[in-house]
Amino acid sequence: MSKSFKRLERVLRLEQKQGYQNKAVVGGIRQFVTYWVEQAREESVDELDEALVEQTAEVLAEYARLPGREARAKALDSLLERLAARQERIGSSQPAQRERQPTSVPTVQQQTVESPAAAPSPPPTPPPPKEVEPDPAGLAQPVQTILGVGPAMAQKLAVLGATTIRDLLHVFPRRYDDYTLLKPINRLQFGEQVTVIGTVWETRSRRLRGNQTLIQSIVTDGSGRIQVSWFNQPWLADKLHAGMKIVLRGKVDQYLGRLVFNSPEWEPLSSTLLRSGRIVPVYPLTEGLKSTKMRKLMRATVDEWADRVPEPLPETIRQHRHLLTYPQALRQIHFPDSHESLHAARRRLAFDELLLLQLGMLGQRRDWQAFPGYALPAYPELLTAFIAGLPYELTEAQKRVVQEISADMSRPVPMNRLLQGDVGAGKTVVAAAAMTLAVAAGRQAALMAPTEILAEQHYQGLSDLLGPLGVSLRLLTGSVPAGEKQQIYQDIREGTAQIVIGTHALIQEGVQFQSLALTVIDEQHRFGVDQRQALRDKGVAPNGNGAGMSPHLLVMSATPIPRTLALSMYGDLDLSIIDELPPGRQEIKTRWIRPSERERAYAFVRGQVEQGRQAYIICPLVEESDKIEEKAAVEEHARLQQQVFPELKLGLLHGRMSGREKEAVMRHFYNGEEHILVSTSVIEVGVDVPNSTVMLIEGANRFGLAQLHQFRGRVGRGTHQSYCLLVAETTSSAAEERLEALEQTNDGFLLAEKDLELRGPGEFFGRRQSGLPELRLASLLDVKLLEEARHEAEKLFAADPLLENEENAGLQERVALFWASAGDMS
Ligand code: ADP
Ligand code: MG
Repeated sequence: MSKSFKRLERVLRLEQKQGYQNKAVVGGIRQFVTYWVEQAREESVDELDEALVEQTAEVLAEYARLPGREARAKALDSLLERLAARQERIGSSQPAQRERQPTSVPTVQQQTVESPAAAPSPPPTPPPPKEVEPDPAGLAQPVQTILGVGPAMAQKLAVLGATTIRDLLHVFPRRYDDYTLLKPINRLQFGEQVTVIGTVWETRSRRLRGNQTLIQSIVTDGSGRIQVSWFNQPWLADKLHAGMKIVLRGKVDQYLGRLVFNSPEWEPLSSTLLRSGRIVPVYPLTEGLKSTKMRKLMRATVDEWADRVPEPLPETIRQHRHLLTYPQALRQIHFPDSHESLHAARRRLAFDELLLLQLGMLGQRRDWQAFPGYALPAYPELLTAFIAGLPYELTEAQKRVVQEISADMSRPVPMNRLLQGDVGAGKTVVAAAAMTLAVAAGRQAALMAPTEILAEQHYQGLSDLLGPLGVSLRLLTGSVPAGEKQQIYQDIREGTAQIVIGTHALIQEGVQFQSLALTVIDEQHRFGVDQRQALRDKGVAPNGNGAGMSPHLLVMSATPIPRTLALSMYGDLDLSIIDELPPGRQEIKTRWIRPSERERAYAFVRGQVEQGRQAYIICPLVEESDKIEEKAAVEEHARLQQQVFPELKLGLLHGRMSGREKEAVMRHFYNGEEHILVSTSVIEVGVDVPNSTVMLIEGANRFGLAQLHQFRGRVGRGTHQSYCLLVAETTSSAAEERLEALEQTNDGFLLAEKDLELRGPGEFFGRRQSGLPELRLASLLDVKLLEEARHEAEKLFAADPLLENEENAGLQERVALFWASAGDMS
């Protein structure tokens, strides 16, 4: 059954005899091997054969180029030696026909991948654990202690977040290439994302106009051939030599009616790749770090270190929930033996995340309620007077929420409440009502907003409403002059300032309240847990309140989150929802237009400006980097200013500006000094510019639904009819659904549900939702696992609230680490 190996041996011996002149076969050795390799692969009987075939192909493809007789002799003789060794290995024990090993070059199997969300299966039998002791100290060593990792490599790994061996073990694959689902070339279909293994038939380099180069290879795999192109990577001409086995990954494209690949990812098919099993990890990469290299490093690291990672979970929980051990999970997440074991590994690691999340939340609630809160009289006269004095009537939803808050604040337990309401739902007035409760009881309230302008607007609005009732307010931001600041600090300390509104300046050291009974945080997703904490601590400070009291806390958010999710995310918070907009609120008319209609959109913007209104134009999302995004925004601004609206004034806002610069731009726009504000996505939390009526979003198909809704919320804040124009290029069906959903409704909660449905929870909670640690493997929608984790967390907490018991020591440390990551996300 090893005809091809015999043939190879004959050819090589002949070549040897002829003095290594590359004349043993017509057309040269290289051409011979491209045919040979296909057949040899078929006839391989085990992994060693597979490796031999690949090495032979690699060596012989280069054979003709080897400099001189000596080098050729060396290469060829060593191959002959290996063939002889093979003969010995196979010859004696080889049954006539053996099953192919699972690690052979993959053949196609139409097997479906089991969904990771499927019910937990019992953990598959793991490889027998090695007898090694946990070694936390060893794991804490820098990556450079690993053989083969030098300073340059260490630097690259640091970019991926790995400085210690332990970190490196937690750089998880970003995806897996599933070689059980490999496709042969003759079955590829246009548009699909696939992995193909083949042999380079030939590679050509062509010069195009404008000094561009085009590299074109023909790749064959026995079933067919496909043309593969790369632009402007001239060095590939030397790399992709004929006969080379490569792995291609990418989307199948079309050119002149034939299927092609354009700039797919590629890597040489190596024996390490083969040895990693059929589900091959693909790691996040950084510049200069090749995937083959990374995989090799991970293989070695996992083999050496995974079993030395201590198990953080108490054994009882692990058994009860049928979870893999931590080392097993680490091994399987990197190099899964099967889909089942990959699933079991994910489940284990996700369980840990959810458990840590829940334990942290329980801990926060415990800390928050460690001190008593102020029991404030419900519905004091000041509140009644405040509501009576409003220029409008509160909506039913607002009244209900004010009730909830008032009831909460009348108890001697610190309130911990999330107030949710769509953009424009009227959260500020509810916050103001809550603040009157504190003031009426002779105490203080503070409101923290993410930007200066927002703080200023709150200050002005609340002064108008509360000033006439005799309440004394202060504004504290970074740009308050130092002299004035000292006075404000003093007023806060002495209690003459009853309500303080500000930015991060509020949590600065000099700020000390006389008696802070309520803290309000606006746009809370812009703040981290520690900032929330810091503001609370202003109330607890011993020389502030003496008695050690916790202020009540009200956090506000306009990011609508479906209720079930909010409960699991903010398990430590009570929830109030304003689910009704003030009456008479106009629908923002929303239209999805094609790029070809852009001129009409500009004409429309111009028309609005002529009527005295203002407009926003959002630049398309550029994901590569802030720098590139800035460039794109600057160019778009210049184009619009010079070519489209030369007669108007256009402002520019982007993420690389400092806080101060952004404030200045917003202020100009707010003051009406500019007609149009061109901005990147940084505009999303914004200020109220009631005079702006048009929101034009370029490349709208590239933004998420929630974000588009936030953009739209920038207009329709005044009395004028407002419009949202979504400009989208050709687009995917999911993007189309998003745009249509926006056209159909203004309801943020409906849109949030839709968003969740379209995107799944993983993306729904991007890094955006700060204040929570990042979940890398778990999904908050994985309700069953979440319930299991919550259950275990409550049990643990009831028995050992501070996680002081010996068996919980590992957990305690992990909770602290896990939550530490939440702080730096704002
Ligand atoms: P958000 O919930 O987005 O923070 P705001 O509190 O800024 O919304 O309110 C938006 C606008 O609606 C403000 O101009 C506010 O004065 C107004 N508003 C709030 N409540 C009512 C109401 N019940 N009736 C009419 N207008 C209201
Ligand atoms: Mg608001």
